Amino acid sequence: MADPPSVRFTSISKSFGEIKVLQDVSFDVAAGEKLALIGPSGSGKTTILRLLMTLETPTSGTIEVNGELLGLRRVGGKLVPDRPAHIREVRRQIGMVFQQFNLFPHMTVMANIIEAPVQVLGMERTEAEAQAMQLLQAVGLAEKASSFPRQLSGGQQQRVAIARALALRPRIMLFDEITSALDPELIGEVLNVVRQLARDTGMTMLIVTHEMNFARDVADRVMFMADGRIVETGSPEQIFTDPQNERTRQFLRAVL
Ligand code: ADP
Repeated sequence: MADPPSVRFTSISKSFGEIKVLQDVSFDVAAGEKLALIGPSGSGKTTILRLLMTLETPTSGTIEVNGELLGLRRVGGKLVPDRPAHIREVRRQIGMVFQQFNLFPHMTVMANIIEAPVQVLGMERTEAEAQAMQLLQAVGLAEKASSFPRQLSGGQQQRVAIARALALRPRIMLFDEITSALDPELIGEVLNVVRQLARDTGMTMLIVTHEMNFARDVADRVMFMADGRIVETGSPEQIFTDPQNERTRQFLRAVL
């Protein structure tokens, strides 16, 4: 049998009170695939990532991660809430980097990175430190291990946040507008780290971004969203040079 998709949304709807944020959203992300989510502000992109992190729960529909239901389990043909321990297990396959770096300000870079592997995975401290050094090298910050976040630029802090998410060895990485809080001259260094990860690792990636050139060169597939729905999905080439939907064309005219 073929591998299950890394991520599968089936008829997902999400409302906050009267506001319908996602409406009947269904899509798959294949194992190892890099999917860019683009679209106007408020179209529901971040909500998709937050649902995957179990920071929100769907109003209806199901989400599967590597073939396992997220947050739900089947009992005699019915879907019921899953056990918290199993939810954590499924969810642990996913790492996320946010717009705000969210590093622990009172901890060194090293301490920030080893915190979760030691506390959550029960990794030996020396092993966690060795892994952290490799990750810091990969994001070009090996010399900053004993610095505190406030001593780093925004771009450096965001690269540490990427290393910290990778330290839990996720199979799926979510990036939520990770350059939006950065000064323009710091954006490139962060995007380059993600480009390199996309090229060199088999991780599945869902990338919400307003950087269209980045979406174009990092993604295998681009999904354009508006008003809580998927308007169209295609290769970067197709979406950026030959969009099929007028809504997509409008958006791209405004941002490119
Ligand atoms: P995007 O990432 O495309 O900008 P979001 O997923 O962040 O869109 O938000 C989609 C819509 O959902 C927005 O209108 C936003 O205001 C609304 N929204 C998101 N989170 C909440 C919440 N916790 N309560 C109420 N409304 C929310």
